[in-house]
Amino acid sequence: MKNRLKKCKQLTCFIIFLLISCLWLSESLSGSAIKERIVTAPHPVLRQRATDIERGDHETIQLLIEMADYIEESVRPIAGISLPQLAVSKRGFVAMIEEEAVIMINPKLMKYGQEEPSLEGCLSLPGQFGYVSRHSSVTVEYHDEDWQKQVLHLKDIDSFVVQHENDHLDGILIADKMLAAPAQSLRNSDIPLE
Ligand SMILES: [Zn+2]
Repeated sequence: MKNRLKKCKQLTCFIIFLLISCLWLSESLSGSAIKERIVTAPHPVLRQRATDIERGDHETIQLLIEMADYIEESVRPIAGISLPQLAVSKRGFVAMIEEEAVIMINPKLMKYGQEEPSLEGCLSLPGQFGYVSRHSSVTVEYHDEDWQKQVLHLKDIDSFVVQHENDHLDGILIADKMLAAPAQSLRNSDIPLE
């Protein structure tokens, strides 16, 4: 009886181990799948004006959820990622706001405040880093992944990330508005990509 109980416990442990392994594997596979889909300039989709996402477009919403997981788990800091960067010309992106990946569908931006230089790098422009002029604050209206309407008022770096990602939806890249390259003392690996 004792032996049977022991075997039963061992089997349960093994099944739990198997389940955890499968979960971990599927997570890392979906992460690498996103990484492999990222397109770089001069891919034509990066220059298109993206179209609105329809309410029942579950496939695109699922993709945004996978993008959010990818940037939250990335070792190299990623501040945001947009659908056109995965060759999907639709208006949606994920932005890291206070260490949380926020999905924004069909965002509408109102920009406020003075323009100031923001140091940026882009996943679609490998090796290019530089200062870009951004407004100091934005109000962004969007639908979340549950199609709830949301409004956020963002300042400084959070607002810069949203402006960078929103530019991708209009076919604009940082190379178009670069003010200057960063000082050599700055290591490019410290600059989050987006
Ligand atoms: Zn970018």
